[in-house]
Amino acid sequence: MEAAKAISERADQLVQSTDAMLDGSRPTKLVVQTAFVVLVGMRMLAVLRLGPSECIRRAKACFFYYARKYFGHMLGYDKAIADARVGFLKDFVQRQSTMQVGYSELPLEGLQRDAVLQLCREHADLNSDFTKGQYSGSVYHGGMGGYTEFINEAMDMHQWTNPLHGGQFAGVRKMEAETIAMCVKMFNGDENACGAMTSGGTESIVCAIRAYKEYAKMHKGITEPELVVPVTAHAAFDKGCEYFGIKLRHVRIDSKTCKVDMKHMKSLITSNTIALAGSAPQFPHGIIDPISEIAALGLKYDIPVHVDACLGGFVIAFMEKAGIAIDEKNWDFRNAGVTSISCDNHKYGFAPKGSSVILYQGAHYREHQMFTQPDWPGGIYASPTLAGSRPGNVVAGTWAAMVSFGENGYVESAARLVKTAKFICDELRKIEGVIVMGAPCLTVVAAQSQMFDIFLLGQMLGSRHWEMNMLQFPSALHIAVTNLHALNDMEHARRFVADVRECAAELVAKGCKGTSVATLYGTSQQIPDRQIVGDVARMYFDAYYDSRAQERLAKLEKAQ
Ligand SMILES: *Cc1c(COP(=O)(O)O)cnc(C)c1O
Repeated sequence: MEAAKAISERADQLVQSTDAMLDGSRPTKLVVQTAFVVLVGMRMLAVLRLGPSECIRRAKACFFYYARKYFGHMLGYDKAIADARVGFLKDFVQRQSTMQVGYSELPLEGLQRDAVLQLCREHADLNSDFTKGQYSGSVYHGGMGGYTEFINEAMDMHQWTNPLHGGQFAGVRKMEAETIAMCVKMFNGDENACGAMTSGGTESIVCAIRAYKEYAKMHKGITEPELVVPVTAHAAFDKGCEYFGIKLRHVRIDSKTCKVDMKHMKSLITSNTIALAGSAPQFPHGIIDPISEIAALGLKYDIPVHVDACLGGFVIAFMEKAGIAIDEKNWDFRNAGVTSISCDNHKYGFAPKGSSVILYQGAHYREHQMFTQPDWPGGIYASPTLAGSRPGNVVAGTWAAMVSFGENGYVESAARLVKTAKFICDELRKIEGVIVMGAPCLTVVAAQSQMFDIFLLGQMLGSRHWEMNMLQFPSALHIAVTNLHALNDMEHARRFVADVRECAAELVAKGCKGTSVATLYGTSQQIPDRQIVGDVARMYFDAYYDSRAQERLAKLEKAQ
C-alpha cells in the first residue's frame, strides 16, 4: 500500500514538472515533435529486430549499391559490366550468324505458312545438336526410337486445351488428376496424399513455400516466417523466399559427405520456422540429404518437411525395385514426417518441358497453396498454382510419357542411368587430380581438384563440346547423366571419361593451380569480381532478350 502511494505521488510530481517544462510550448510543435520521435523510434526498433548479422548484411549491400552507383566508374565495375554485355551479345550473335532474317516487329503482311515453317526449321538448326550426349542434364531423353513423334502426337491432340477450364477440357482434367495420382503412388503416398501439376521444379517449390507460409499463419499465427534448408538446396528456395518475404536460414553441409549438417539444422529452428527441407538428391553433388533425420526433427517440433526430389524423383522412386541400394532410408511418404515432395516430370520422367508435380501428405497442406478471390468483378476466381491459364498439351504429353514407360520402363531407365553414373564416378576416381565429391549413388557426379584449377578442366572439356555445370563454394564441376549418356553401352559416357582423363593429365603436367571464375549458362563470359556477379547476370538477360543483338553489338563496339 505504502509503495503504491509513493509511486503514485512520484508520478504526480513527474507530470507536474513535465507540464511546467512544456509550459509555453506551442501545441503544434509538440504534436509534430512527438510524431517525429515516435516514427524514428519505430524505425529504429524495426532495424534492431533484424538482428546484428542482418543489419550488417543490409548495410554492406547498401554501401556497395552506392559505391557502385557513384564510384562504379573509378572501380572499373561499369566497364566490366559493359564488357560482359558485349561478351554475351557476341556469343548470341555468333550462334545465330547463319540466319539473316529476323523480326523485331510484326511483318505487315503475314507470311505463307510454308515460308514460316521453313524459317522455324532454320531456327531449329541454330539449336545445338544434343543427340551427341554432350550436355550435363538439360535434355533427359533425347527422343530416339520415335519417342519425339509419339509425345508430339499426344500433345497435338490436346493442342488448344487449358486446364484452367476443367469443365470444357474434361479429358485433360482426367489426365492431370491421374498424373498426380501416379506420382503420389511412386512416393508411396496413402489415399490422403494429393498434389498439383506445375510448370517446373521452381514452381513446385514456390508452391510448397506458399502453402507452408499460409499454413503456419493460420495454424500457428506465424507472421514472420522462416524456412530452414540446406545451403545445397536448389536456388528456387531462395527465389520463393524472396518473392514472399520469408527469411531463409541456410544450413551448412559436411564438406566430406556433402550432406546437410543436422546439428546445425536443429540449431536454426525457431518458433517462426514454417518448414524444413532436404533434397533427394541435391542438385550440386547429387547427394541425398539425411531425410529421415530431417523428418524426425519435423515430427519432434511439429514442423512440416519438404523433400525436393525435382531432379532425381523418377530415378530414386524406382531404385528399390531395380535392386539398387539407396544410402538413405525412409525418405518418402512412408515416413510420417515427410509432408511434401516435389518431383520434375520434365527431367527423368521424360515428359515435355514445363512439367512437374508438388505432392502433399494430405489436403490440409494443399488447401493453403490455393489462391481464391471470391469478389473479382470478372467472376469468382480460384487457381491452385502460380499460373492462371496453362498448357493442357503438356499435361497430355506428361501423362503419355508416364503411361508409356510404366513402372517397368522407369525401373529399367533408373538402372541404366545409375549404372552409367556409377561408371563415370568409378572412372573419375581413378584419374589423378580429380576428386569425386561425397559418395553419389544416383545420376549426378561432381568433382573437384586439389592439383589444378577445376574450371580450367571445364573449359578444356568445353572446347571438346562437353557442357558441364560449374559449381562454387567450393569450385567444382558436375555432370548429370542422361539417357543420351547411357545409350549404346554408354558410348558417350566412355568418351566423356576418356576426354576428362586426357585433359586432367595435361593440367597435372602443367600444374595449373588456383581457381579462375565461374561462367554463366554455357557462355564464355567470365565474371571478374563477386561484387558485380548480380549485375553481370542481369546483363546476360539483357542480351538474351535483345532481338537486335547484331545492331546493338555493332553500336557498342563502335562506342568502345
Ligand atoms: C531442376 C531442379 C529444380 C528446379 O527445377 P526447374 O524445373 O528448373 O524449375 C529444383 N530442385 C532440384 C534439385 C533440381 O535439380
